[in-house]
Amino acid sequence: TRQFFVGGNFKLNPGTLQAKKDIVEILNKADIDTSAEVVIAPPSLYLLPLQQILRKEIKVAAQNSYLKTSGAFTGEISPTQLADAGIPYVILGHSERRTIFNETSDVVAQKTRAALDAGLSVILCVGETLKEREANQTKQVVEDQLKPVVDILKENDWSKIVVAYEPVWAIGTGKVATSAQAQEAHADIRTFLSSAVSSSVAEATRILYGGSVTASNCKELGNQKDVDGFLVGGASLKPEFVDIINARR
Ligand code: 13P
Repeated sequence: TRQFFVGGNFKLNPGTLQAKKDIVEILNKADIDTSAEVVIAPPSLYLLPLQQILRKEIKVAAQNSYLKTSGAFTGEISPTQLADAGIPYVILGHSERRTIFNETSDVVAQKTRAALDAGLSVILCVGETLKEREANQTKQVVEDQLKPVVDILKENDWSKIVVAYEPVWAIGTGKVATSAQAQEAHADIRTFLSSAVSSSVAEATRILYGGSVTASNCKELGNQKDVDGFLVGGASLKPEFVDIINARR
């Protein structure tokens, strides 16, 4: 059985360190499902101070890291430096990185390789645009995003990968995927992993849903057979994040 996983992606949301600490205080005091794995991803500047005050059951994740570990790469974040700072996870391939910062699936694969080599675990994001969904290309698009990662990883690397299916049209729009749409996409990803990697990797890999997840839609989504948790944007900054963490309870 796959451990339920809930990630909070704070993105570059405004708010001072104090505003972020207030969110952490809510999480620290909350009655949360301790059988769930919970990770929050604040802006990188806040990773260390928040990690210091977070309860031990909740981990932090970086929102990005570079494909090289050091050198003349102004403004980038090194995966080895994240690991050295005790940061266990990094989100890679988020649609905002792919579209706004032009990250190709090959770059995402190289970043994934570098992160794993540094000892990080990776939350690997994939997902189609509305245009692609309407053209019935969802399965193909997601497979094309996964393929370079499959090619660059070895089978045992997959124990450190969590896949997040985030349809671009559902991100920040309030238009959540139906549980049938999510289940179908997740099942397709699992089938792909089974043929491209192995049936045991397909069976063990957590596949999260992301895109307009809220306290009110998380229960039904979270009870789909192939939905193993969530990657939450907007709602992770609010007290309702606690209800999403507790979706399976
Ligand atoms: P929203 O939950 O705000 O739609 O964002 C989802 C997301 O991009 C998480 O990575």
